[in-house]
Amino acid sequence: MARPEPIPAYEDNYIWLLRDGPATLVVDPGDAEPVIARLGTTPPSAILITHHHGDHIDGLPTLHVRWPEVPIFAPDDPRIPIATRRVSGGDVLEIGPWRFEVIAVPGHTQTQIAYHGAGLVFCGDSMFSLGCGRLFEGTPAQMLESLDRLATLPGDTLLCCTHEYTAANARFALAVEPGNAALGQRAAQVASLRASNAATLPSTLASERACNPFLRVDSPEILQSLANHLGHLPKGRVDAFAALRSWKDGFR
Ligand code: ZN
Ligand code: FE
Repeated sequence: MARPEPIPAYEDNYIWLLRDGPATLVVDPGDAEPVIARLGTTPPSAILITHHHGDHIDGLPTLHVRWPEVPIFAPDDPRIPIATRRVSGGDVLEIGPWRFEVIAVPGHTQTQIAYHGAGLVFCGDSMFSLGCGRLFEGTPAQMLESLDRLATLPGDTLLCCTHEYTAANARFALAVEPGNAALGQRAAQVASLRASNAATLPSTLASERACNPFLRVDSPEILQSLANHLGHLPKGRVDAFAALRSWKDGFR
């Protein structure tokens, strides 16, 4: 199985590249230059877009002019002006040797999607390793449902999210669930990877289920931390998730 490669862009973005023989996929090209530096004159088989934010689509004008024949898959959202095929949850894409299912993951934005196939998931800014995206447009209930859906994917699924936020996420995760031994091990691994400037991604769904606090809102230790933080126990999963997300928003 091809291992996805993260191409660093901007401060902390990753543009994902997947290769299998002559087939190549580019995901969320927020900048064209690092993609062209990697691919040279060879066009990719397709470009996938998860959501409309500039750090995920701003490379499209240059790439579309350079390679007008390359299909660009994107959510149906006018804020993504360039696309050759609009896709939504439940759609299945056949690209070269790959087959991807589109999963709707609203929360960070209303039209965000993820692409699941080839043993991995390109999930944009919905789930991060040890964290999740900020709720710019969606509700806590929507984001929790999106994360719950992603969490049902097989444990060996590689999580290809688009930001290197893992070290900061680990600090928050340890603050809310300090007794989680798997999290302690993951945090140590993340610290040593970042010390050598290496990517902490892709992660696996099994690791996220064991360590990511936003997938663990039923954990007794997290519920106790939330009770200490709020002064009362959350009134259910959505309430716990909402409280965890807003705590993280203000956490330094
Ligand atoms: Zn975003
Ligand atoms: Fe982003």
